Amino acid sequence: MKTKLSIWLWKKPEQRLRLQTPAEALSLSEITKPAFQQLISDMFETMYQARGIGLAAPQIGQSIRLAVIAREINPERLPLILINPVVTPVSHEQDSEEEGCLSLPGVYGMVARLTEISLTAWDQFGQQYTLLADGLLARAIQHEVDHLNGRLIVDRITDFTRGQHLL
Ligand code: ZN
Repeated sequence: MKTKLSIWLWKKPEQRLRLQTPAEALSLSEITKPAFQQLISDMFETMYQARGIGLAAPQIGQSIRLAVIAREINPERLPLILINPVVTPVSHEQDSEEEGCLSLPGVYGMVARLTEISLTAWDQFGQQYTLLADGLLARAIQHEVDHLNGRLIVDRITDFTRGQHLL
């Protein structure tokens, strides 16, 4: 059974405050609980129904270091679960592309991100993994990790645009 959760919005002051709050790290005992596994499943459902390609827990009102990313933008075609993620630059090269955010409907703009990163995180079973990412996947990971640090695209947009991608 999957439940669609409501997505918290930047335009609502009390929700904005939560979106801007850095999220708490998760422990292994927390992530092995059935309710946590259900939350992951509900986050994927919520993201797909909203036609997003990524969703972070603070966007559904949970201040924990958890995010999900759609399989469609992973070259390995697997859905990604990021728990306590850490991003390390592979090179310091950046590029600027358009981004949007499910918590800021209608807002799009150019955001500079590292083009190549290494991600270390836990999967839903608490197994640590590391992957190299570039292109849209690297961008999406950085966007979601920003959410976990209380940062939103409005903090980073250099030029506002019309938009397609929702993270
Ligand atoms: Zn977002």
